[in-house]
Amino acid sequence: MSPAALSVPGGIVLFVLRAVLDLLLPPSCAGCGEPGAPCCRRCRGEFAFPAPVACGLPAGVEAYALAGYGGAARQLVLAYKERGRRDLAPVLGDMLAAAFMSTLLPESPRGSVCWLVPAPSRRAASRARGGPHMLRLARHCAARIAGHGYQARVASALRLTAGAHDAVGLDQARRAENLAGRVLPVPAGLPAAGTPVVLLDDVITTGATVNACAEVLRDAGVTVRAVLALTSPRVS
Ligand SMILES: [Zn+2]
Repeated sequence: MSPAALSVPGGIVLFVLRAVLDLLLPPSCAGCGEPGAPCCRRCRGEFAFPAPVACGLPAGVEAYALAGYGGAARQLVLAYKERGRRDLAPVLGDMLAAAFMSTLLPESPRGSVCWLVPAPSRRAASRARGGPHMLRLARHCAARIAGHGYQARVASALRLTAGAHDAVGLDQARRAENLAGRVLPVPAGLPAAGTPVVLLDDVITTGATVNACAEVLRDAGVTVRAVLALTSPRVS
C-alpha cells in the first residue's frame, strides 16, 4: 500500500467499502431489511406525519418532525447518515418535500420562492459520509418541490467550525456549549436579507442545533420561518 493510501482516514475507507458492498449486494430496505427498495412501503409509513416539536425556538417559528427517533425511522436515518446508504437520499428528500408541501407551502405567498437551508455538519463527519448529508437531502427535497411546479432553492448558508464535537450523549446545555460560536454564516451562500427560509435537519434532539442555526441566520438578516426534521425523540 502506498504512503498516500495509508494516510486515508479510516472513516472514508469504511464509507467506500460500504458503498461498494451496497453496489454488489441486492438492495434492501435500510429500515427493516426487506429485499427490494431502499425503503419499503411499511417503513416509509413511519414518516407519516409532520408533528410539532417544542424545542425552544423563538415565538412564531414552528419545528416539525416526520417521525419519532426510534424503530425503522431511526434505522433509516442512521443508515443514510452513518452507514453510507446514499440511495436513501431521494426517499428521505421526497419525504421532507411532502411534509413541506403539506405543512408550509399552503402558508407561502403565491409565487414565492421556497428557500431551504440545510443544517451544517462537522467537516470531519462530512468527509467520512461522502459529503454534507443534509445538503444532499435539501437538494432532493428542492427538486421534488420544483417537480410540483413551485420554485425551490437550496441555500448552503451555514457551516460548523472546527472544534464542534459529536453531540451524541450531550444534554441541552452541553450541546449549546458545544455549538457556541461554532455555527457561522457562509456569506456567499446566504439568500437576500429578509428572505424567509426553512431549516432542514435530520434529528431534533434537544433543539440546540436548530436554535444556534436560527440565531446565526437571524443575525445575518435571514428569517427562519420553520424547521423541518426527519425525526425527533420529542415525537412519540
Ligand atoms: Zn422496511
